[in-house]
Amino acid sequence: MVTRGLIISIPWLALVNITFALLVLLRNWLFSDIDRLYEVGTARAATIDLLMLTVIVLFSLSLLLVWRKKRGLSLLLLLAGLIWSFCSVWFIAHLQLPFAWPLCTTLLMTSLAALYFYPVGLVCYALPLWIAMPVASVMLNQGVSLRFLVVWLIFTGILVYGRFILLRWFDEAWLRHQQNQALIARLDALAHQDPLTGTANRRAMEAVLENAVEQDKGFALIMLDVDQFKRYNDFYGHQAGDECLAAVALALKKVVRSPDDVVSRYGGEEFLLILFDATEKVAERVAARIQESLRAAAIPHAASTVSDSVTVSMGIASMTVGQTASEVIAQADAALYRAKNAGRNRWSC
Ligand code: GH3
Ligand code: MG
Ligand code: MG
Repeated sequence: MVTRGLIISIPWLALVNITFALLVLLRNWLFSDIDRLYEVGTARAATIDLLMLTVIVLFSLSLLLVWRKKRGLSLLLLLAGLIWSFCSVWFIAHLQLPFAWPLCTTLLMTSLAALYFYPVGLVCYALPLWIAMPVASVMLNQGVSLRFLVVWLIFTGILVYGRFILLRWFDEAWLRHQQNQALIARLDALAHQDPLTGTANRRAMEAVLENAVEQDKGFALIMLDVDQFKRYNDFYGHQAGDECLAAVALALKKVVRSPDDVVSRYGGEEFLLILFDATEKVAERVAARIQESLRAAAIPHAASTVSDSVTVSMGIASMTVGQTASEVIAQADAALYRAKNAGRNRWSC
């Protein structure tokens, strides 16, 4: 989060600092020979120019660091803060330049807005500047000025309160972001789930199969149909039928390897199981486990002619190279049809 914030705000901080450095570099052209007016010697002028060029280099480097996600930004900020504070004291106390105060406060405010979420960087950059202001005032007035002290304390209060407000906005935005992510995850789960049985819905199942075919991932399918379910509904009622389907789904989920394999509701009282990296032999073992699991669940089905509890018929097929997902499903469906015709409560391959 801090890295993302820095990627957004460091370019702005760099822009402000580089612009100010350029203003100072071009001072004689912008403010008609200011060096001569304020009697800045050649050596001093050269030092100022060198320091401003250093600021430009430091902030160009800071951009590189942030974009390449490298460490060391706080050191660059500290150096830049020290250069600006040194120059501010010089401009205010020795040269008595009128634009030095607004330069100092603008830099402080900019750093606060750009770095409020990155306390180390903020302290490295802003602390030297913040200390430079009273130091410059003491040197300028040759003593402590009470009026300056009051103004400086008020300014400090504004800075601290400003950071507090910005942090609150940041927290609020972060909280909202997390809530949105949770909501998206919930909606995503709902869009891919069958509400009655809690298994994957048909859309999700098709997506999984397409993905498996694309990636050449081997799988076997078990197409499964509840035996004589119409009779169940007629005998126990539709609501009990719903509960029965949920119980069958639970029995299915118990026998597959989760989370690799997928249990999905294909439609009505039909389910499709996707077993990854499984041969037909393995799928047959799973089919046997399904029968056991249903026997253990012992959901009464008094209207069935097959058994006195709910049973299923299953069709098994496995994917061979070059087949599409729907071809494998069609094979499993044909096998299910054979299992039904052979007397139900069994599987066929
Ligand atoms: P078979 O053994 O040949 O599969 O016979 P069957 O009665 O199971 O098959 P049939 O296709 O004749 O009937 C399926 C029934 O499943 C009819 C339909 O009302 C019921 N059904 C489908 N979806 C639901 C559901 O969501 N809830 C309930 N309660 N019943 C459903
Ligand atoms: Mg059916
Ligand atoms: Mg059926």
